[in-house]
Amino acid sequence: MERKALVLFSGGQDSATCLAWALERYEHVETIGFHYGQRHAVELDCRKVVLARLKEQFPAWAARLGADHMLDLALLGQISDTALTQDREIEFKESGLPSTFVPGRNLLFFTFASAIAYRRGLTTLIGGMCETDYSGYPDCRDNTLKALQVAMSLGLDAPMVVETPLMWLTKEQTWRLAEQLGGSALIELIRTETHTCYLGDHTRLHRWGYGCGHCPACELRRTGYEAFTKSEAA
Ligand code: ZN
Repeated sequence: MERKALVLFSGGQDSATCLAWALERYEHVETIGFHYGQRHAVELDCRKVVLARLKEQFPAWAARLGADHMLDLALLGQISDTALTQDREIEFKESGLPSTFVPGRNLLFFTFASAIAYRRGLTTLIGGMCETDYSGYPDCRDNTLKALQVAMSLGLDAPMVVETPLMWLTKEQTWRLAEQLGGSALIELIRTETHTCYLGDHTRLHRWGYGCGHCPACELRRTGYEAFTKSEAA
């Protein structure tokens, strides 16, 4: 049977790396993105550019890259009250979770993705969730996603495998994975075309990419990239 996957692709560094990982391993790969009332749409604009550049620069991958699905989950923005969807400071709350936490977001994303995958005959869902992130969102954890894999497979009565290739990687290792997959061309594409900054600042290009340079997401991306380039130089 043909190996077919659906990648949860936001336009950020992690999901772009996952997309390249999937294009190396699967014969047919589709992508899905969600609009849920994010504070900024920069990441979503980046999606189209990254997809176009991947097709241009990696012909072998272009042949495997199928449809892109964009889902409107405005409802999620309505029911959540967080720094990602409202104009609020990013801070850590008493629960130990940052104010960027959108409760249930990944549970919903995967469930909607599984519905699309089922309809399209895709049997694997791939996401860039990672336990080594500072944020520790509970719905990004390995156990949560393993439980969700079982729930979706049972609920659809069809195998729905969840793959999270970045789960145990540091940000430095994520850059290295990208290099192994697509060499310096992919590093450059991810560096200049993906977006991670929580504040949606896409005006300043730093060595590690665009961003405000101060928010937790920029900080994580910067330190990861610096560690990666330092080890390259050594
Ligand atoms: Zn930032």
